[in-house]
Amino acid sequence: MAQVYNWQLGREMEYPYGEGDTTRQFAAVFNINRCIACQTCTMACKSTWTFSPGQELMWWNNVETKPFGGYPHHWDVNLLSKQSELDPGGQTWDSLRSATPTQPYGVFNGKTIFETADGTEARVTGYLPPEDDWKAPNIFEDAATKFPKQGATLPVHDGWFFYLQRICNHCSYPGCLAACPRNAIYKRPEDGIVLVDQERCRGYRKCVEACPYKKAMYRPTTRTSEKCIGCFPRLEGLEPLTEGLPTETRCMTSCVGKIRMQGLVDVGADGQWLHEPNNPLYYLVHEEQVALPMYPQFGTQPNVYYIPPRWVPRDYLHQMFGPGVEQAIDRYTNPSRELLALLQLFRAAQAVIFRFDIEQGPKVNEITVNGRTQEIFNDTAVGFGADGNEIVRISVQEPFFERPGKQNSI
Ligand code: SF4
Ligand code: SF4
Repeated sequence: MAQVYNWQLGREMEYPYGEGDTTRQFAAVFNINRCIACQTCTMACKSTWTFSPGQELMWWNNVETKPFGGYPHHWDVNLLSKQSELDPGGQTWDSLRSATPTQPYGVFNGKTIFETADGTEARVTGYLPPEDDWKAPNIFEDAATKFPKQGATLPVHDGWFFYLQRICNHCSYPGCLAACPRNAIYKRPEDGIVLVDQERCRGYRKCVEACPYKKAMYRPTTRTSEKCIGCFPRLEGLEPLTEGLPTETRCMTSCVGKIRMQGLVDVGADGQWLHEPNNPLYYLVHEEQVALPMYPQFGTQPNVYYIPPRWVPRDYLHQMFGPGVEQAIDRYTNPSRELLALLQLFRAAQAVIFRFDIEQGPKVNEITVNGRTQEIFNDTAVGFGADGNEIVRISVQEPFFERPGKQNSI
């Protein structure tokens, strides 16, 4: 196997192929704190891409209730258990090392799914879920760990659950791609989107087995595997609404809770994100480090990042999002002036925002959160599209409109 650098793990790791030739990478941030589990995203995706015969059990976008829910059932617990068996006591982080841009969360000491595989029978550790496990995509919806008699308070709720929004991560080192014996899976250099070539696929389901997030799926009517395609025609500017500009996916643009922001980041020859602090995705992930990858220890370097839920026990969140959890929650709870303004741009535009600016406004409030005083400024966040032109501007304070005394006939 080749050695590649995985910045989420803070170290080199084994992968069947080299760094690849991605020059731009599809990425997204999901703010778990704001999701209301309306499933609008799920249905937007379903009604666009997976409404045909053979796709009945396919949900490229799903929103599950943690800790008990999962699609397919127990997908993460199954793989975490397997990794612990194959790497006993090894799945730990050395998070005490000082954070640097190439090691923001410290160093992962354990073996990834590529490193626990024996390399002969399988290139990737995984498992093939039985068909029944795909049949209840929203099982255990709203099921909490317990229902305390007292009301819940922060920082951690006694009884808890949270919604986890999931799509394909268009990983930098995809497990699905590594496992395919037909070389039918490829990563587009221009946006990092991972696709299955339907002509080459023979339906061996090695990708279904190898994807740690279980986002490659088998279609019995065509006997091929399919997966989220990142709505690539929209990214190519074919959505008429945005007049040729790269547009966010269906699941992103339909999000009722305004929890999602999608972007494209520039990637250097070494596979790392270029330093672009005015790119909203770069800012959230690398500057503020408020958004974290899910199960980075699997090693695929996923490109969907999550602002962790504030009320959930930290040991659970550490396992899911790594050692950056405390800092991410702290920064979200007491946001900087820049972060508070940037959070307003979530779901403010359909076109992908490539760059943002903040125009400073007056101080409008002062609040105390967790004993810390926070000043609120009515700044304005401005988003720019692929052509460099302004596509949206929105202020921290919502504009106030007073209804005129004389009502119209409505
Ligand atoms: S999430 Fe799974 S299907 Fe998507 S790119 Fe990563 S390994 Fe492949
Ligand atoms: S549309 Fe948004 S708020 Fe609704 S379930 Fe999906 S991610 Fe959550």
